[in-house]
Amino acid sequence: MSLFTAVEMAPRDPILGLNEQFNADTNPAKVNLGVGVYFDDNGKLPLLQCVQAAEKAMMATPSPRGYLPIDGIAAYDAAVKGLVFGADSEPVTSGRVATVQGIGGTGGLKIGADFLKHLKPNAKVLISDPSWENHRALFTEAGFTVDTYAYYDAAKRGVNFDGMLASLNAAAPGTIVVLHACCHNPTGYDITAAQWDQVVAAVKAKDLVAFLDMAYQGFGYGIAEDGVVIGKFVAAGLDFFVSTSFSKSFSLYGERVGALSVLCESKEEAARVLSQLKIVIRTNYSNPPIHGGAVVAAVLGNPELRALWEQELGEMRVRIKAMRQKLVDGLKAAGVQQDMSFITTQIGMFSYSGLSKDQMVRLRNEFGVYGTDTGRMCVAALNSKNIDYVCASIAKV
Ligand code: PLP
Repeated sequence: MSLFTAVEMAPRDPILGLNEQFNADTNPAKVNLGVGVYFDDNGKLPLLQCVQAAEKAMMATPSPRGYLPIDGIAAYDAAVKGLVFGADSEPVTSGRVATVQGIGGTGGLKIGADFLKHLKPNAKVLISDPSWENHRALFTEAGFTVDTYAYYDAAKRGVNFDGMLASLNAAAPGTIVVLHACCHNPTGYDITAAQWDQVVAAVKAKDLVAFLDMAYQGFGYGIAEDGVVIGKFVAAGLDFFVSTSFSKSFSLYGERVGALSVLCESKEEAARVLSQLKIVIRTNYSNPPIHGGAVVAAVLGNPELRALWEQELGEMRVRIKAMRQKLVDGLKAAGVQQDMSFITTQIGMFSYSGLSKDQMVRLRNEFGVYGTDTGRMCVAALNSKNIDYVCASIAKV
């Protein structure tokens, strides 16, 4: 008998487990469309020019590595506020946003979840059906009961918006609702601007707590365009949470750069909220790491580098859209009879392909094409060299 005799083997992470399987696959034609990572047309993880320029400047004047403040680099937090709410927006200029640097978007979500558990210990959390796998696990580990609101309509190949609204309207006051601000993961289907207005109205009428997860700002239509939904919640006079991730938009996955912003009623209230967020951070990991936050702050704080970032982010966005079209055309050319044009109506890095679990397993085992069992494929991992093979493989299953 050891201390750990009763410890059970946990299931593998569904996506990272797929990665392990991919790495072990000896098929030379294998293609990994499982994990949510953007690769360039050569199948390489990009190191953005704006990031390289910022790092070069940082190397030229090396700085010592003392502890950061608990809430992170001040210039970074200010840059996040500017991106999420607009630098000249009323919430930012009036000082009623509390923003803390987080360990990736996941870290931002977890700081918010832990804070909410103190604030609303008995609230339920609603996530979309389906959602990013980690939403359920993260809020459950934070101590919440997690349920879903209706979202994906497989038959319609789109959003079951009536169902979504009905779920929100049926939720008890104080329920925490996790919403994907743009580029819904995993389905690739976002709701329209007019539908967002209805969601905002339901959140307000039913006294729900909105937690917007913004992991793909800039991958939909543009940085400002993808942030429009934030303005709708502000205009409705709501207090809410926004988690930010720069993993994808700066291709800084491993640097773990993200944030949590909480919109409060007043500057004084934001100071109180910030003091509590700092306790959550202090008791978890004390303070965030420097490098990734410093790079993002340097890029966003320099007009030239910021313009370069917007250009590079735009190139990623445009390449993904081109791949969607190529996928639709390629599937048709490969003999797929069904109309697959829905793929171009999806947005962001993913496509819910509509393929069954059996088809996804066959794709993996017979062709080395890896997507999740739910049929999700990462369009951002397609390129001019692997697209024909992927189309031919899909056509065969
Ligand atoms: N939220 C969503 C919807 C995501 O898809 C992801 C990453 O895949 C995250 C949050 C987490 O981002 P990060 O890697 O910055 O923690």
